[in-house]
Amino acid sequence: MRWEEMTSPEIGALDRERTVVVLPIGSIEQHGNHMPLGTDSILAHAVSLKAAELAGEVAVLPGPWFGFSAHHMRFPGSISLRAETLMAVADDVVASLVTHGFCKILIVNGHGGNGGVIDVLASTLGHKHYGKARIATLTYFALARDSIAAGRQSAPGGMGHACEYETSLIQHLRPELVKIERAETHYPDPGSDYLTTDLIGSQSVRVYHDFGDLSPTGTLGDPSLASAEAGERFFNAAAEALAAFIGDFRGWTLPGRKQ
Ligand SMILES: [Zn+2]
Repeated sequence: MRWEEMTSPEIGALDRERTVVVLPIGSIEQHGNHMPLGTDSILAHAVSLKAAELAGEVAVLPGPWFGFSAHHMRFPGSISLRAETLMAVADDVVASLVTHGFCKILIVNGHGGNGGVIDVLASTLGHKHYGKARIATLTYFALARDSIAAGRQSAPGGMGHACEYETSLIQHLRPELVKIERAETHYPDPGSDYLTTDLIGSQSVRVYHDFGDLSPTGTLGDPSLASAEAGERFFNAAAEALAAFIGDFRGWTLPGRKQ
């Protein structure tokens, strides 16, 4: 299930028609005063592994730790790839998978800042490997939007970054990494009714926000409402939504495939 722990013959023996290969991507960037830099990458990988367990016949790749985080660079510790670099990494990984005959490849994103990149990847890689593989990309918390919304306590703006949602999840999965006594609540004002910073708000208009302009600590939302119990519910909801998608994706046809 974990690609890096399997042997080459074990990968060679996987059913190419049924196996869904998942590439998790996230970020290394500030997550307020209380959360680890690797939050998004840790969560994308953990949700992918749990979904793999639920769905079966899924192989989860080790993801690149870094993502597109230019908007976090005013905060120490943030590391950003250029969007082009991230796309090139995903392009090469997917090309390798297609070389080995895999035809259902899913990029699972855990970082809002990678949203534009995964949209482009779905189109460019989908075109490049047309007839050989289907490439799907998604952001896992958007997929589970409804169940996350049902389980939240905060008002709009309370789930954004290092917030009720992300803090709960890390408290559930890696509680030793959360310094909750240093957490600060911040409901940002994005400056227009057309804009939202909420993780599961509807973002019809895209704009660049430097996080240093939105929040003095880098936190967007309300970590004071977080708990490990809520984190377990959010985690299971996210993994179940992803597993359901994987089960569906497995059955998709390959338009343009030469018989
Ligand atoms: Zn995050």
